Amino acid sequence: MVIAYISHHDCQLHDMGPGHPEQPARLSAISNRLIASGLEMVLRQYSAPLATREHLEAVHDRAYVDEIFAASPTEGLAWIDGDTAMNRYSLHAALRAAGAVAMGVDLVMEDEVKQVFCAVRPPGHHAERHRAMGFCLFNNIAVGAYHALNRYGLKRIAIVDFDAHHGNGTEDIVTGDKRVLFCSTFQHPFYPHSGFDSTATGIVNVPLAAGSNGSAFREAVDSHWVPRLAEFAPELILISAGFDAHQADNMTGLNLVDSDFAWVTRRLCEQAEKSAEARIVSSLEGGYELHALARSVEAHIKAFIGDS
Ligand SMILES: [Zn+2]
Repeated sequence: MVIAYISHHDCQLHDMGPGHPEQPARLSAISNRLIASGLEMVLRQYSAPLATREHLEAVHDRAYVDEIFAASPTEGLAWIDGDTAMNRYSLHAALRAAGAVAMGVDLVMEDEVKQVFCAVRPPGHHAERHRAMGFCLFNNIAVGAYHALNRYGLKRIAIVDFDAHHGNGTEDIVTGDKRVLFCSTFQHPFYPHSGFDSTATGIVNVPLAAGSNGSAFREAVDSHWVPRLAEFAPELILISAGFDAHQADNMTGLNLVDSDFAWVTRRLCEQAEKSAEARIVSSLEGGYELHALARSVEAHIKAFIGDS
């Protein structure tokens, strides 16, 4: 089983200042862990291309994309919302992050590889059609989804989001599109205070109370996601892979452990094998405790490879 690993140095240059939890060290922690574990040797490495305007405008308003391009500073930080800033490298980092997911879709659709992990930042799942927020500029996973729909004419795509925060941006973009099923778990009540009351068909949100552990998470996945995914039979599964629900991550109050991320990945692989020719493209969202993040990404990628 060949797994692709897509990243780019530009994603390490995006820096929102000292003390910001969404920091360049997240990517070095992941890459160091993959080298130390020997996993890096079995991954096929790719350099993320820049997303095109066409990719971005399939999920964001043109005026919003213009606004982000115009906000890119030549020095210092330009604050886009209370916790999201751009330095002079951020625009390119964001274009690489979205471009990585589009490239991942190309790799699985052209049968180069079966699964893809995009080690990118800024993350994307809070970015709405016309609003940046929560460390996110462009919605990377939605860019991948619409690239798959528009370029390959897929009829059914599932986006699965296990980040501890609700993927309000993804939900905003895909709501009403019958070709997309969005399944998520998230801490509630919690930032961004959305998703718990969604009623749209095609949105499978499972709020989890603070303190929920792996067994509550697994129960949510097996009772809510798995049957809907089986019924929908996606031709491609995209994962908003946030690891901030880890018990060691003090950004959130959920208590998952490394093996829970491996478990959910295997569940998604089972569905992908049934309906999607095993195609999965996963992209990094949150995860701020560097050791737990690196170990959880390792567990996630190992689950793609299987026990071999
Ligand atoms: Zn998060």
